[in-house]
Amino acid sequence: MLKMKPHCETCRTPTGLTDLAYICSYECTFCESCTTATGAVCPNCKGNLVARPLRTKPPLQALGSQLSRKLFGR
Ligand SMILES: [Zn+2]
Ligand SMILES: [Zn+2]
Repeated sequence: MLKMKPHCETCRTPTGLTDLAYICSYECTFCESCTTATGAVCPNCKGNLVARPLRTKPPLQALGSQLSRKLFGR
């Protein structure tokens, strides 16, 4: 599974699961402004950076909200 790193490796901006972030093939993770600043080239491995897919909910949380909808009707 893809590692979803919680911070930009350059400036430590939080890159949460639902935030726009960019990764290289080694899963180095960068925020949008650092990606723009480097021309979408990873400063660690010189690979190209691509937009990371968003993960709107971690699997457990998704399961939990399904369950509470069933139990409490919301
Ligand atoms: Zn950054
Ligand atoms: Zn890299």
